[in-house]
Amino acid sequence: MTHLMKDKTDIAQNPNHTKVPFIIAGPCSAESEEQLMATAVELAKEKRINALRAGIWKPRTKPGGFEGAGTKGLAWMAQAKKQTGLPIAVEVATSKHVEDSLHFDVDILWVGARTTVNPFSVQQLADAVKGTDVTVLIKNPINPDVNLWAGAVERFAKAGVTKIGLIHRGFSAYGKSEFRNVPLWQIPIELKRLFPELPMLCDPSHICGNTTLLPSTVQKSIDLDYDGLIIESHINPKEAWTDAAQQVSPSDLTDLLDSVIWKSNYADEESFRRELDSLREQINYFDEELISLINSRMLAAMKIGSLKKKNSITIFQNTRWSEILEKLTEKGKQFGFSEEFMHTYLEAIHLESIRLQNQVKE
Ligand code: PEP
Ligand code: MN
Repeated sequence: MTHLMKDKTDIAQNPNHTKVPFIIAGPCSAESEEQLMATAVELAKEKRINALRAGIWKPRTKPGGFEGAGTKGLAWMAQAKKQTGLPIAVEVATSKHVEDSLHFDVDILWVGARTTVNPFSVQQLADAVKGTDVTVLIKNPINPDVNLWAGAVERFAKAGVTKIGLIHRGFSAYGKSEFRNVPLWQIPIELKRLFPELPMLCDPSHICGNTTLLPSTVQKSIDLDYDGLIIESHINPKEAWTDAAQQVSPSDLTDLLDSVIWKSNYADEESFRRELDSLREQINYFDEELISLINSRMLAAMKIGSLKKKNSITIFQNTRWSEILEKLTEKGKQFGFSEEFMHTYLEAIHLESIRLQNQVKE
């Protein structure tokens, strides 16, 4: 399937056809040789883990905090690789980071969220990895911009990098949210649509910012057919120098992986396929019905538009809109639809209706 999962999708090893996720785990930052080695040795006992991560150069929002061990941390990583046999992954943000990492035989480079936003930096990294066969994982940019994320993929692909993967780590948002970085699952889904051949990993640690939301976020990514995880694990999370609140100990990581219901995205059982096909036909039918119903609604709205025009009345009527929103959100709730869904749906219909009413000539 993909480079990350090359040896892991062998049906003989995997008779239940369950997708075997590619899991990268390790501390947010390499703090000391002892901390990194102790974490790596524990993680290596968990056979589901495929690679060790650690930040060597840390992008910190404010100055004054721990900014990473730098190049000496790479020597610790190389040592951890030698001792555990795990491939190693680090974040790179400059061509010097790439050069140093390759010198220490780092297997996987990842581009951080704060770097993906900057095309100059991305291009610099793409030029620096040209001609190597290193794996490059590209985190989503901190802002929810599909094109910026896709553009970064294109820059590496143009540089001839063949082993590219994506990491969904959530998006910055102003204001309160239960997540540190709101997931906005529709954006990675769109990237998956644009680049179906690229593996998509979930970074639940930076999405959640705490350990409470980790299990449900990991489960959600598996339900959405993600190809793996990159998750922060520290030998002593409470004492971590960076991102302490979101890191789990290696044994808690094992418990977390045990609690996940792993899914398959295909099955060869005849009856399952038949049932799935028939349900998909129903979905297709309802989708078409919905579009034609929406059309009927728009045609009625356009008649209203022409009536308003003749009587010089504004198209947008606040009280009427509030009424619709309230009544239908309530109705949706009775079917178990979330308020967020009802609002998004009604707003989209309303905006399109206004756009069409504006086009009414008379
Ligand atoms: C990290 O992985 O430790 C990190 C800094 O992530 P992000 O770029 O997603 O903030
Ligand atoms: Mn981190």
